[in-house]
Amino acid sequence: MKKSCQITKILNNKTGAVSACPFCESPNTQAFFSLLMPTILSACSQDEVAQAKIFPFEASLCLNCGLGFNSKPLPEETLQNIYKNYRYVRPHKGIGCSKYDAMLQCIYRNTSKENHLVEIGSSDGYLIDALVSSGYKNIEGIEPSKEYLQATNHKLIRNEFFKTETSFKQPVDTFFLMHVMEHFHSPRDIISVMKQNLSPSGKIIFEVPNFSGFHHQHLLFFNPIFVSHFARVMGLVVLEMEATGSVLRVTLQKQNNTKSVETEPMKNPEELKNLLQQANTTAQRYQQINEDLKTFLLSSLNKKVFWWGTGSTSIIALSNIDNNILQKTQIVVIDGDPERKGLSLPFANLQNLSIHAPSDVIKTMRKNDALVIASSFSEEILKKLKASCDLPEQIFIINL
Ligand SMILES: [Zn+2]
Repeated sequence: MKKSCQITKILNNKTGAVSACPFCESPNTQAFFSLLMPTILSACSQDEVAQAKIFPFEASLCLNCGLGFNSKPLPEETLQNIYKNYRYVRPHKGIGCSKYDAMLQCIYRNTSKENHLVEIGSSDGYLIDALVSSGYKNIEGIEPSKEYLQATNHKLIRNEFFKTETSFKQPVDTFFLMHVMEHFHSPRDIISVMKQNLSPSGKIIFEVPNFSGFHHQHLLFFNPIFVSHFARVMGLVVLEMEATGSVLRVTLQKQNNTKSVETEPMKNPEELKNLLQQANTTAQRYQQINEDLKTFLLSSLNKKVFWWGTGSTSIIALSNIDNNILQKTQIVVIDGDPERKGLSLPFANLQNLSIHAPSDVIKTMRKNDALVIASSFSEEILKKLKASCDLPEQIFIINL
């Protein structure tokens, strides 16, 4: 899905582990986060459940430039298979819309309706449709999966990968990417291709997880320290950088008189020390969530546990709970996306993880049941539930 340039990977052939930084190639890197994770991080069919494998995941930090990266990436073939069967969260179906508001505001602030805008990785075209409705006249998207057909303005979306050869009829005033950059092997190639196609003072707006989202499908872990360094090296100016909650939104601008500089070491080792500390804190937070969830489930063994959420947050949480606890827990899996109804979670050793539509089960929810919401949209979900059923007293929210 979200990978298009042919990127050079620095791989250790024997293990497949990345041994040097994918941006500056420094060997001075340190692993800070590792755990076992299923290859499939979404709701899936019974056939896919049988194919799901557990692989080790590891995130490392480059102590030269500050880039976080997936140092044990899945074999390319496994990644491609995941993308082939990828199930997106679809804002067009009313799921996760709030996640897009800040990005839209950022685009409105930094562009005009007459500008030539290009979105890389349009998914179901939610942003393109919103911008067209707001009066943007010269906009197009690129999306390799068939999700683009969901867009009202799908004719504006090319069904292909963004590649070195991708060309445009006129210079691009702004490229925008919503949770796409983190899927590339290296940020250098994709930014270079965008830069070549930009108008003289063109912009690149992107949103990525803010040094989070540690799982198999993400290859890069951005943070403000790396982005500042990266922009300088790539000859771009940082116009805006907002770190809100778990996301990082950046607006870069091409400057005619700014040439790329050679990769230089970070000037302030203190900054990197802080970053590593932040990385360790994140790793500890995951461990803490796992511990707390384990305690919550142990205290709910005699109760029905409604488990809302079937995306990566949910699956990572479940994959770190001891099998014997899960075997003894009566879990009712729910997801708001009607297309996930009847699908399952990718755990071959667990029975009855079939996904229910909220309307089919929430009426049976009682005060003395337990509820786990494992989704980045927990607030939206909780609000809807409060309005429509007897909310259990015991609630556990996981928001990685
Ligand atoms: Zn580096």
